[in-house]
Amino acid sequence: MKVGVIAVQGAVSEHIDALTQAMKSEGIKGKAVPVRVLEDLSDIDGLVIPGGESTTIGRLTLSSGLHGRIVELAQGGLPILGTCAGTILLASEGDRQVKDTDTKLLGLLDMQVNRNSYGRQVDSFEAGLQIAELGRAPFKGVFIRAPTIEKVWGKTEVWAKYQNKIVGAKKGNILALTFHPEITEDLRIHQFFLKQIES
Ligand code: GLN
Repeated sequence: MKVGVIAVQGAVSEHIDALTQAMKSEGIKGKAVPVRVLEDLSDIDGLVIPGGESTTIGRLTLSSGLHGRIVELAQGGLPILGTCAGTILLASEGDRQVKDTDTKLLGLLDMQVNRNSYGRQVDSFEAGLQIAELGRAPFKGVFIRAPTIEKVWGKTEVWAKYQNKIVGAKKGNILALTFHPEITEDLRIHQFFLKQIES
């Protein structure tokens, strides 16, 4: 199995490490590789779009041609995991903060995102999340200048909520989270993603 991580900016090595550990724990033979240019997308089985700055990741994936190819691969069923800024890019609509930066969204999930949704003063926090797909033990959500998902529609479903805000959404092969599972010790979300790739 080969899983790519978009590596133009942001939390890249953390995802590569978490995927590598999750593969090991699941007994999956494979590797996680950085994706910088179009050719890097040619033979992957899954893709992670990490957190960072959505404006920067958006601009660089557009100018490198990755943007268009990601859309094609996603529509062809490639499993994709987006976290934080990656989640903003997966959305079909953004709030004023997204619009003002002219960020071209991938539009792969039917949802509206609000950028930097928790404001500046409380821009980072941790919280125990109850996520049905992961079993009973709470998952430590690390929120770093995180967006929220204002609403989902169509075939996109709410996957995780925290205090009445949507913090995870899923449509078929695509999962988007507003927090950072790659910087916790808990591998359950990366394991879940790998199982989706295998299925
Ligand atoms: N605030 C960032 C943005 O709007 C996202 C932060 C993150 O990915 N940790 O792009």
